[in-house]
Amino acid sequence: MQTTRYRGLIAELRRAVIIIGLCLLAGIIVGQPLAGLVVGNVAYFFLLFREAQEFYRWLEGKSSTLPEANQVLVDVAEAIHFIRVRHRKTKRRLQQQLSRVEKSTSALADGVVVIAEGDSLQWWNAAAGEMLKLEAGTDSGQAITNFVRDPTFLAYLDAKDYSRPFQLQLTAESTRVLQLQVTQYGGNERLIVLRDVTHVTQLEQMRKDFVANVSHELRTPLTVLKGYFETFEGISEMLPPNVAKGLGQMSMQVERMNETVEDLMLLSRLDESDTLKTTALVDLSALARRVMTAAQMLSAERHEFLDEIEDGHRVLGVETELYSALSNIAFNAVKYSPEGGAIRFRLRAKGDKLSFSVKDEGVGIEPKHIPRLTERFYRADSSRNRKIGGTGLGLAITKHVLLRHQAEMKILSWPGKGSTFRAIFPRLKDSIETVDQSSARTNVGASAED
Ligand code: ADP
Repeated sequence: MQTTRYRGLIAELRRAVIIIGLCLLAGIIVGQPLAGLVVGNVAYFFLLFREAQEFYRWLEGKSSTLPEANQVLVDVAEAIHFIRVRHRKTKRRLQQQLSRVEKSTSALADGVVVIAEGDSLQWWNAAAGEMLKLEAGTDSGQAITNFVRDPTFLAYLDAKDYSRPFQLQLTAESTRVLQLQVTQYGGNERLIVLRDVTHVTQLEQMRKDFVANVSHELRTPLTVLKGYFETFEGISEMLPPNVAKGLGQMSMQVERMNETVEDLMLLSRLDESDTLKTTALVDLSALARRVMTAAQMLSAERHEFLDEIEDGHRVLGVETELYSALSNIAFNAVKYSPEGGAIRFRLRAKGDKLSFSVKDEGVGIEPKHIPRLTERFYRADSSRNRKIGGTGLGLAITKHVLLRHQAEMKILSWPGKGSTFRAIFPRLKDSIETVDQSSARTNVGASAED
């Protein structure tokens, strides 16, 4: 093995010794050994120089002949040839794979775009080209924001939080809606998958319109019915008892339907957007107290109320919406707590958050129901709830309102022991928060943990 590896080198050494040796011998014969040695070295160097030139020409592909006499160069050439063949094979394999990927991605109905530093377009498939009107020759390297001109998309790309997809309406005139899911990989390279969700969005809009229209249409007949039932209530003593009883039950059911319609209409309004268009500073402390007072009225002294509401906390939002959201939580605590149970209202700051919570000692909720409580019409215990009443839409409204206020809801519950419903708001920045914090006070035992 070793001898094979050094065979060329040994042959070349032998050639050098022969050339220089012959010249030295000739020098000795003519009485000039040193001159013979010099001539031998120069001749050998000249030979090497010519062979190196020939080798470079072969390397550059300008000649097909190799300096065959120089075994070292022949060995190097063989190794290069071997590497080149291997490289060609790998290249062909990669090209095949690339064209397979290209073929499959161009067959995809979803658009795929690769962008790099500066949001510049690196590659895209046919579907993405059609969706964003990209030209293969001219648009490569340009910023994607030249083609998607929505400023909120630019902000979305810059924020680098791609946990939620971006919904995009290409132009104001177009009805086409695209959903963009961005995945970051490598350094600053990003893969964007574009999906046409026009149909889904239209269906969703149809559903919203349908619910809004039906609720609106039901409102007038229900108001008329309510009016009649109120009139009949006034003369119920004059009616036969079974008629009066029937009318009373009908009146209750109409009231339930009316509540459901009102809640559905509110949800339809909230559905229009996940963000608030206009906001104002809302005194959350005062609002929490109003909610507690309303809950106390609903309870009619059947429960004990604890006030741990800190003063001076404000949020940016819409007061009427926030009242609906928080009162749903509070009224549920009353509805689902047995007589004598304590209900604690707490509002306090925690780091950069504001936490409003209502804790009760009521029936509690089994863990399997908790993730689904904010679904429309979902009820943890339908037989009990039928007796208690309610629309099953309260927590859906609460969740929606909180979402619009960049707040979130947390639910803790233990069956038979009680529940805590908490709304967590982002705390206002100092520049907006004008309330003097030193005036904040806690009314009752604020040190107790939730
Ligand atoms: P509902 O009008 O039925 O109260 P919600 O959306 O407000 O509708 O609540 C959904 C369900 O969550 C209720 O039906 C009830 O089963 C459960 N729930 C809500 N709050 C409480 C609570 N404080 N204690 C026990 N169960 C609750």
